[in-house]
Amino acid sequence: MIDAQTQVVGVLGYPVRHSLSPAMHNAAFRHLHLNWVYLAFEVPPALLADALRGMRALGIRGLNLTIPHKESAVALVDALTPAADAIGAVNTLYWEEGRLIGHNTDAEGFLRALRAEGCEPSGGFALVLGAGGSARAVVYALKSVGCRVALANRTLQRAQALAEVFGVEQVFPLQRDALSSLMPAVQLVVNCTPLGMEPNADTMPDVPLEALPDSAWVCDLVYRPLRTRLLKRAEQLGLRTIDGLGTLVHQGALAFEHWTGIPAPVPVMREALKVANGV
Ligand code: NAP
Repeated sequence: MIDAQTQVVGVLGYPVRHSLSPAMHNAAFRHLHLNWVYLAFEVPPALLADALRGMRALGIRGLNLTIPHKESAVALVDALTPAADAIGAVNTLYWEEGRLIGHNTDAEGFLRALRAEGCEPSGGFALVLGAGGSARAVVYALKSVGCRVALANRTLQRAQALAEVFGVEQVFPLQRDALSSLMPAVQLVVNCTPLGMEPNADTMPDVPLEALPDSAWVCDLVYRPLRTRLLKRAEQLGLRTIDGLGTLVHQGALAFEHWTGIPAPVPVMREALKVANGV
């Protein structure tokens, strides 16, 4: 029941009405009988600074940020965590001794999602597809645990720029022929492009999965649909797969834990996401 004691958290985005985060977090609050509520606020880019001042004034306990606010928030917080600083994007805001901290839970959320399925990237070799915002977080995460990384992107210059920032070993165009000699050494493929996402669910990255070793993992960040064409193809080949809901739930779980100080009920959050995602 919402009353005068209710603690408020939420997400700022523009647009934001598609967000699955309220369903995920409110399910967790209900499950733990916490008098907290998670709301979605549609904030135009020009009003982000006002919204963050309002957050302080209203005592909002924490926020998530989504498109288009993740990068602009970097300049609006009192301090950045090392992850947010390196990735250049903030997806979670929380208070620490009165200071507004800008954090990024995407990288750690991705690692938790891998490990929850039994995939340990430390010391391995991964092929990351894409060079946008999510690829930045994934590459940062993999490099932080000592995984060697090859990056493949449609626009080669963008991959080269990202590779320079994070010390990525190899860069390729996102084309089957360019990648075939690399594949036998790859232990993990991560799709960080929107290929395969509805309404283009019949597409997939042009990658020779059949050349991967039998023990390789294929992870897709796309979560709508849950079983993407890429994951179905990997399953047909007998490869192990990880869907995009894993990263989504674990980045949310980490934000939840920063705000409440309580371990997040991950299975409850994942189930709520599946229902909200229509699967
Ligand atoms: P982004 O910053 O816009 O980057 C998109 C990347 O995909 C770019 O490298 C782009 O290549 C490439 N790309 C786009 N269309 C392509 C096409 N038709 N063919 C080949 N490459 C293409 O996007 P993002 O934020 O990284 O998100 C990427 C995907 O990950 C989205 O589907 C998003 O929903 C999903 N995602 C999931 C989670 C999760 O928690 N599961 C989190 C974040 C994102 P160019 O450089 O050539 O343009």
